Amino acid sequence: MANDTNKFQAIISHCKEYGFIFPSSEIYDGLQAVYDYGQMGSELKKNIKDYWWKSMTQLQDNIVGIDAAIFMHPTTWKASGHVDNFNDPMIDNKDSKKRYRVDHLIEGYAEMLKAENQMQKADGLLASMDALLAKDDFEGLKKLIEDNKISCAISGTCNWTDIRQFNLMFSTEFGSTVSSDDEDNKVYLRPETAQGIFVNFLNVQKTGRMKIPFGIAQIGKAFRNEIVARQFIFRMREFEQMEMQFFIRPGTQKEWYEFWKTERLKWHQSLGIPAEKYRYHDHVKLAHYADAACDIEFEFPIGFKELEGIHSRTDFDLKQHQEYSKKKQQYFDNDTDPATGKPFGNYIPYVIETSIGLDRMFLAVISQAYEEQDLSTAEKQDSRVVLKFPPKLAPIKLAVLPLTKKDGLPEIAALIMKDCKPHFRCFYEEKDSIGKRYRRMDALGTPFCVTVDHQSKEDNTVTIRHRDSMEQERVPVDKIKDIVLASL
Ligand code: ATP
Repeated sequence: MANDTNKFQAIISHCKEYGFIFPSSEIYDGLQAVYDYGQMGSELKKNIKDYWWKSMTQLQDNIVGIDAAIFMHPTTWKASGHVDNFNDPMIDNKDSKKRYRVDHLIEGYAEMLKAENQMQKADGLLASMDALLAKDDFEGLKKLIEDNKISCAISGTCNWTDIRQFNLMFSTEFGSTVSSDDEDNKVYLRPETAQGIFVNFLNVQKTGRMKIPFGIAQIGKAFRNEIVARQFIFRMREFEQMEMQFFIRPGTQKEWYEFWKTERLKWHQSLGIPAEKYRYHDHVKLAHYADAACDIEFEFPIGFKELEGIHSRTDFDLKQHQEYSKKKQQYFDNDTDPATGKPFGNYIPYVIETSIGLDRMFLAVISQAYEEQDLSTAEKQDSRVVLKFPPKLAPIKLAVLPLTKKDGLPEIAALIMKDCKPHFRCFYEEKDSIGKRYRRMDALGTPFCVTVDHQSKEDNTVTIRHRDSMEQERVPVDKIKDIVLASL
């Protein structure tokens, strides 16, 4: 097995070679941190989406889904704090003109110190950085960079500009007659899907007659002008989020936060991924809207990193929208408050958010599934790459392979295809040797292959091959559909 950096590179190549993920507009040399999902990738992505959607809406009693527009009224982003706060402090090297995220520049230097065994110096540097970042002390941060003689990797100089905030939101103009500097017509590409839920809170609550506690779920695109975007689909400029906002009575946020923290980890583990691949990371420094927050981290080939965030967002967002829109964002709670014996009455609900990146989940699933296996025997060298996807996520569930192109075998295979196609995704192939076809299906993560051979004509049976064990068994043709369905 390749080491982890190599494994990450191998997964990227595999994704390209087998039609999972291509660089965007590749014929023009691609666009940084933007990717296209190919014929296999789009199926896997859709299956992950469906799995999340079903467990977060259909299988819940009190969560409904919406699909809000990407464009929103620009005031949304003033109210949410994104116009003023969705920034990363950046610094430019005057000689190379290269721009760095300040924390990444300092962390990179600290890593180098650690590699040289200067642990204490590295830790001290990081602690100073955290303290300065917490105070937004940009002069102090610049001095820290200069005092430590942290240089640009390209020019090698310490000739730095002042530190400036760089907003991560993309903007564009609405309408056809506006000039680009017209602030009134500026609209943003949403940097998170959550706000589409908040502004529809009352629409959904009233029309759906929802009673607190209840949730609103959404899957959709989000856009962030990320500065450092070098980690394949881990950090993209256009990505997809699967978010759920759970509206609750104020004062109950601690228990609901714990509930969703546990619930979401269970969801991940329900896919059969080993528990030790996940861990919680509780936030110490909280975002301006949160009173508790944690990440569910996954052990990617690039290390443990954030896959999903669980945030107790208080009533920050609804309160802000109430203030900016001048429309009450209140809920009337009929239930009796045991403390007073009267209804809880009107309040702005508190919110627990679960927010997972669909693309990061894709990366987690494919990293977990990817295996390079040495199958060599004393007689011959052999190996395979197999994607051990949970069958319900696999892009193709069943491959139907006639042993030869003649003797009536394709006709039997066609009947199997006709029987199974309406129920799950099947793939038919008659080219190449059967061994090569199996290898190709392993590389795509197809859990079952059936081979139609001459015996099939005699007794209407086929061999079914199981991807992970590579075991084969003879089964009647009319059992195939049920065998596959039972695994989904
Ligand atoms: P990070 O610290 O990695 O930048 P974040 O804390 O900004 O992430 P959130 O704003 O909490 O992320 O977004 C929720 C989820 O959306 C993340 O857990 C992640 O899975 C996903 N996500 C965020 N930014 C990106 C991105 N640029 N590319 C892909 N997925 C992303």
